[in-house]
Amino acid sequence: MAFRNRLRFEHQLAALVGLLCLALVGATVGGAVWLERRSALRLAEARLARLAGGMAESLDTTLRERFREIQVVAGLDPLRERWGADATTIRGVLTAMRTTAPDYAWLGFVAPDGRVRVGTQGMLEGLAMSGRAWFETGLTRPNVGDVHEAALLNGLLVRSEPEPLRLVDLAVPVRDAGGRVIGVLGGHLSWDWAIRARRRLLDEGRPGTDLWVLDRQGRVILGPHLGTTPFGPARIGAMVEQGRGRFAAVIGDETVLAGFASAATGEGSGIAAGDPGLGWIVVAALPEAQALAPVQRSVQALLGLGAGIALVGVALAWGLGRRAAAPLRRMTAAADRFGREADATTLPRLDGAREFVALSAALRSLLRRIGAAERELSDAALRSTRAAAFYRRQIEDLRQVAGTDVLTGLRNRRGFAAPAEDAFAQARGGRCRVAVLVVDIDHFKRVNDQHGHDAGDAVIRHVGALLADAVREADTVARFGGEEFVVLLVGLGASEAVQIAERLCAAARAAEIAPAGSAIPVTVSIGVATVARCDPDIQAAIARADAALYEAKACGRDRVSVAAGTGAVERAA
Ligand code: GH3
Ligand code: MG
Ligand code: MG
Repeated sequence: MAFRNRLRFEHQLAALVGLLCLALVGATVGGAVWLERRSALRLAEARLARLAGGMAESLDTTLRERFREIQVVAGLDPLRERWGADATTIRGVLTAMRTTAPDYAWLGFVAPDGRVRVGTQGMLEGLAMSGRAWFETGLTRPNVGDVHEAALLNGLLVRSEPEPLRLVDLAVPVRDAGGRVIGVLGGHLSWDWAIRARRRLLDEGRPGTDLWVLDRQGRVILGPHLGTTPFGPARIGAMVEQGRGRFAAVIGDETVLAGFASAATGEGSGIAAGDPGLGWIVVAALPEAQALAPVQRSVQALLGLGAGIALVGVALAWGLGRRAAAPLRRMTAAADRFGREADATTLPRLDGAREFVALSAALRSLLRRIGAAERELSDAALRSTRAAAFYRRQIEDLRQVAGTDVLTGLRNRRGFAAPAEDAFAQARGGRCRVAVLVVDIDHFKRVNDQHGHDAGDAVIRHVGALLADAVREADTVARFGGEEFVVLLVGLGASEAVQIAERLCAAARAAEIAPAGSAIPVTVSIGVATVARCDPDIQAAIARADAALYEAKACGRDRVSVAAGTGAVERAA
């Protein structure tokens, strides 16, 4: 699976088609080979059977003709009186016979006493044939003898064949008018005719083919290895029984295909009535390997063709796969770009197969959806950012409101905390000095009582504004509640703070406040303290200033009182 995942589409397709082609070609070649092999074997066997039949037919025809001929001549009426008396005429007849059938090595007339009276070319004349099978049998009946090597004629005849002369003997009794045997007409048929017939047939047949003529015992009488028995008795018996047929046998170390035919020289062949016959069997054989050689060649051709087809198939599949995968590759590249580059907005429209078109349409619609969702998300993010900013502003406003005194617009106790802590931190670090004033309007209750609460509010607002105007930007004024204010002076020591407090006292005293027309006299009392290094927080300084304020109240009001130890601290600073 992992291997498959690593291969490109066209390679996978090419490999698949290659395998498919190989399987198809293998199956086709296998089937074709099997069929062709079977038909080649059948064809070869049939051809061999035909060849054997042809050879047997050739042997039969010649033997039959010669035998009939010799019988006809032996029974010729005009010669009846001449056999024993007119040697010249008989020699002339026999010579004429030999001229007609040159296969005869010799023809002759033998008297009953066994002496050769007449022989072609005068050969063997006067010699005794008594005891020879053909002669002795010829005295009683026509007969054909099996092939044998020539004894007397060998060397007398001029021949073209290199091997020793072999003969087939034919003999017929010659009778006078009264039916008495007056001699034997004998003919020695040269075996050369069979050799020539075999050669002719083999020349016409397929190379590698062999042709044997076996005698009744299965011995080779024509063909290679004369006198040997290439087949066992069982095979010989079967061939004799069947007459014609085909078989395959292992001879030596190779399988041989064979066709066979019994020559009709057997009983009932018409050659010699009542004669058991010669029992010749013709066997044509061909090594199986040679019979299959054409198949081998076609196998090679088929395999070559198959390999060619497979190669073409692989190349086509590769090209096809490449072409088919091209839109996918384009799509992949576009999708990859889409994933990495922010300005890539959509995927290309694929053409080609319907699936690709559908895929690109589906992906494009998916991307449109994603795009819409993305836009919604960014809108939502924008909205939430705006909302956050809005709420931040709101919180800021609320914080402002929470830290602001509604009546005077100054900081309240909460709003005072942040700058106070900041200043306290600076004072603790020794970076600057910080002083605190606690301011309280004197007898304010009376203002309320005498001028009303609104006038009291106006007085409070007025004093607050007066305080705010009198200090610097860096200083902080806060209303702590009622008619009480705290002023934070940054960067000032006790003496400067006292001066400012004095100035504030004077300013309040001099202020003309007349909210409802009639002037309201206002004085304030101020307690002054500075932040000491040992203070835990700003409240400690405020508490000291508050204590100083009560002292100012106690001392008659409309005055400034400095907290105990403030001067010492300043000196120390
Ligand atoms: P002292 O000189 O000792 O400070 O005398 P006082 O009359 O100022 O004494 P106290 O501080 O006890 O009285 C403050 C009065 O201020 C009491 C309350 O009714 C009044 N008051 C507190 N807050 C407000 C306000 O916001 N507006 C008005 N008009 N009056 C307020
Ligand atoms: Mg008060
Ligand atoms: Mg007061």
